[in-house]
Amino acid sequence: MAGYTPMMQQYLAVKEEAKDALLFFRLGDFYEMFFEDALTASRELEITLTGRDGGQEERIPMCGVPFHSAEGYISKLVDKGYKVAICEQVDDPGSVKGMMRREIVRIVTPGTVMETKTIGESANNFIVGAAEQNGNFGWAACDLTTGELYVTSFDASTEKARNELNVYRPAEAVGDEAANRRLREASQGALLCTLREENGSASELAAKFPGEAWDAQDAVRLHALARLLAYLGETQKRSLGHVRAVRFYDPQQFMALDAFTRRNLELTETVRDRSRKGSLLWLLDKTRTAMGARLLKRWIDQPLLDRTAIDRRLDAVEALNGRWMEREELRNELKQVYDLERLVGRIAYGTANARDLNALRGSLLRIPAIRALCAGLGSAPLAEMAGAMDDCADVASAIGTAIADEPPVSVREGGLIRPGFNARLDELRVASTDGKAWIAELERQEREATGIKSLKVGFNKVFGYYLEVTKANLTALPEGRYERKQTLANAERFVTPELKEKEALILEAEENMTGLEYELFAELRDRVAGHIPRLQQLAEQVASLDVLQSFAEVSAERRYVRPGWSEDGYGLSVADGRHPVVEAVAEGVPFMANDASLTRDAAILLITGPNMAGKSTYMRQVAMISIMAQIGCFVPAKRAELPLVDRIFTRIGAADDLVGGQSTFMVEMKDIQVMTEQATERSLVIIDELGRGTSTDEGMAIAQAVIEYVHDVVGCKALVSTHFHELAHLEHSLVRLRNGCMAVKESADGVTFLRKLTEGAADSSYGIYCAQLAGLPSSIVNRAYSLLESAAAAENAEPPRSAVREESPAPEEPAPGIVQLAMFEVASSAQADKPRKPAATQADKIAD
Ligand code: ADP
Repeated sequence: MAGYTPMMQQYLAVKEEAKDALLFFRLGDFYEMFFEDALTASRELEITLTGRDGGQEERIPMCGVPFHSAEGYISKLVDKGYKVAICEQVDDPGSVKGMMRREIVRIVTPGTVMETKTIGESANNFIVGAAEQNGNFGWAACDLTTGELYVTSFDASTEKARNELNVYRPAEAVGDEAANRRLREASQGALLCTLREENGSASELAAKFPGEAWDAQDAVRLHALARLLAYLGETQKRSLGHVRAVRFYDPQQFMALDAFTRRNLELTETVRDRSRKGSLLWLLDKTRTAMGARLLKRWIDQPLLDRTAIDRRLDAVEALNGRWMEREELRNELKQVYDLERLVGRIAYGTANARDLNALRGSLLRIPAIRALCAGLGSAPLAEMAGAMDDCADVASAIGTAIADEPPVSVREGGLIRPGFNARLDELRVASTDGKAWIAELERQEREATGIKSLKVGFNKVFGYYLEVTKANLTALPEGRYERKQTLANAERFVTPELKEKEALILEAEENMTGLEYELFAELRDRVAGHIPRLQQLAEQVASLDVLQSFAEVSAERRYVRPGWSEDGYGLSVADGRHPVVEAVAEGVPFMANDASLTRDAAILLITGPNMAGKSTYMRQVAMISIMAQIGCFVPAKRAELPLVDRIFTRIGAADDLVGGQSTFMVEMKDIQVMTEQATERSLVIIDELGRGTSTDEGMAIAQAVIEYVHDVVGCKALVSTHFHELAHLEHSLVRLRNGCMAVKESADGVTFLRKLTEGAADSSYGIYCAQLAGLPSSIVNRAYSLLESAAAAENAEPPRSAVREESPAPEEPAPGIVQLAMFEVASSAQADKPRKPAATQADKIAD
C-alpha cells in the first residue's frame, strides 16, 4: 500500500473485506469505484470511466454514481449476478477533522436483495445454504424479504438437487466445495455459488432456534443452515429478527416432478417464452394478496401426497365454491390486506417507514371481518383457521395511536407522529407553530410601521427568515434596526434582532421535533418487531386462505368439480376431462372433452393418431388433472376419481430440449433412464412420440422395449403416444395395454380432427396432410403422396414381414371409434381453415 494516499489506503483496506464484491465507496454525495471494480462497473452500467490520483505514478481508474440514485445502479449490477458492498462514512461529517472512518454496512447479493421492486411482489427470492457430506445433501432456503426458511436433506444426487432448485429457483447459493459442485452441475452453471467451508455447531443453532431439537443425525442440514445464517450475517450486518421459524420438510412429502415435467406441463411458466401467462399458475391465480400469489406458486410446485391434507384444502374450496356472495366479500377484504410478510421483513430489517406501519395497521383491521366470514361458511377447516387467526389488535392500536394519518415517506423529516401522542413533542410543536404565527404577524406589523405595502416575510435554507423590500421602497426603511442580508436584482433582504431570535427558537424546536419523532417512531417499530412471530403466523394463514378462495373462484368460473379418490388407490377415471389452459386460451373454439380410464387391468394407453390430432394435449390434461387435485383444487372434468400419484414423469419430444449440447435423442434416453430408475407403481408416466429421434426401425424397437418395461417391471399407469402406428400390435402381447387413437374424419378433400379419443389404433399418420395444412407448395405435397404410394405398392408386392404389418387395419376401413364418434364432430382448426364439401364417408352416413 506504500505510496498510496491515505484515502486510497483506507479504500484498499476496506476492499480486503469484500474481495468478491464491487465496492461502492462513499465519498461525499457519491459512491465511487476504483481499479478493476471501476472497469467492471463502468462497462456494466454504461457510465463514464475517469481516473484519480492515488499517490502513485499511474492514475487509478475510477467511476461513480450519485448516492441518491444508487439504488437503481445497485439493482442493475445485482441483477447481472454481481455482489455490491456498500461502504458508508460512519462519522458525522460535522464532527471530525481529517479523514472520516468508513465501513461496509451491507453487501447486496442476488440472493439477499431486500428491494421488492427488483424482485417483483408475486415471486419469492431465495438464497440457499448447502452442504454435502457422506452421500447426504443438506438444503436450507431462505427468502430474506419475507423471513421464510425451509430446511431439508436428501440423498446427494444431482437429479434431486435439480428438483429442489426447480421448486425454489434460488438466486444464489452458499455451500462447501462438494455441494457447490453439485449445484453448479444441477443448474448447468447458472447458479451463483459462493464457497464457505466452515461448519456450524448444533449448540449455535439451538441458541438461535430454541424450539428445535438438533442432533448429530442432522449434521448435513445443520451445516447447510448454519452456513446460510453465517453468510446472511456477514453480508447484511444486522440482526434478522424475522428469520426465526425453521420449517423442516421431507421432499418425499410432495409429488416428485422433475425439471422437464414441470416445464413441459407449463406449471408456472410457458415453454415458449417462459412467461407466467399461459401457465397453470397464471390460470389458477385469482389471489388478492401478494403473499397468496407467492404461496400459490409453492403449492403448485409441491403437490401433496397426504390425502387428509388434500381433503382439508378441498373441503375449504368446496365451501367457498358454493357461496359466491361470501366469497366476493372475502375477496374484497383480502384485497385490502398488504403484503404482511414483506412488511414484517422490512420492520425487522429496520427499513420500514411510517407508511409501512400504517399499511400494517390497515391490513390488521381487515382481519376480524375475514375471520367472521371464514367462520360462517360451515366448513370445518375454515372455521378452525378462523379460530386460530390472531388479529393482533394490540399491534394495530399501538400503531393507530402513534402514527399520523398521512405520514411522509422519509422518517427523518417529521410529520410521523399524531398530535396528543407525546407531551414533549406537542410542546415543541406549539413552540414552532407559535413562532411561525409570530412571524406571520410580523409581516403585518412591519408593513404598518414602515408604510411599505409590498414588504414581505420569507424563508430560504441559506439565510433563514428575512424581510424583503423592493429597491423602490428602500428609502422608506428607517435606519438602524434593519440588517442587510442579501441583495437581489430589484429587492433587498433584511433581518431584525427579534426576527433572528424567533428564528433560532423555531429552528431549534423543529430540529428537536424531527429528532424526537424519529425516536418515537423507531421505538414503536421495535415494539412491533417484538410481535413478528404472531404477524408471520397471521400472514401464513391469510396467504392460505387467499389461495383457497382463488381455487374456489377459478373452479366456480370454469365449472371444475371436486375430485374424489379411487377405491383401490390405483385406478384413474375421468369423465369429460379438459385441459385447463388449452380450454381457457382457445377463445371461441369449443374444447372437446375426453374421458380417461387407467386401471390395474388396463394401465397403459397407447395412443396413435396423426400430428395435430390432440394426443399430447390429452396426455397432459390427465397429468394436469392429477396435479390440480393434489394441490387441493377442483379439476376440469364432469367427474374424476383419482389415485394419489407419487410422481409424474413426462417425456415429451420437443424441439427446444437441446440443452448442454446434447442431442435430443440422448436427452430423451437419459430421461427414460431416470424414469426406469425412479418410477413406482404409484407413478404416472407420459411419453409423447417415443423414439422419434433416431431411425424408424431403431426408434420403433426402443419404443416397444420401453413400453414393455413399463408394463412388466414398473407396473405404473402410463399414457404413451407414438407415430409408429405399427406398435398397435402390442395390445396382443401386453395384457394391460390398450390402444386408443384420436379420431379423424377423412373425406374426399381433407381430414377433420375430431379431437375425440376412441378405442383402437389409427391406421395412418397423415404426415403429408399435415405438411399440406402447413402450406407447403403443392408440387412437394403431390410428390410426397406419389412417393408414398409407390412405397406402399412395393411393400404390398412383398409378403408381410412381421405381425405388425399383418395386424394393421386395412386402410379403406375407418377405425370403429371413428364411425361412432363422427356425430360429435367439432370445428377444428383444420376444418375452419379450409372450407370443403361434406364428405360422403361411411361415418357421415351413419351420423345422418
Ligand atoms: P398432437 O400431439 O396430436 O400433435 P396436440 O395435442 O398438440 O396434437 O394438439 C393440436 C392442437 O389441437 C392444439 O393446438 C390444441 O390446441 C388443439 N386441441 C387439442 N386437443 C383439443 C381438444 N380436446 N379440443 C379442442 N382443441 C384441441
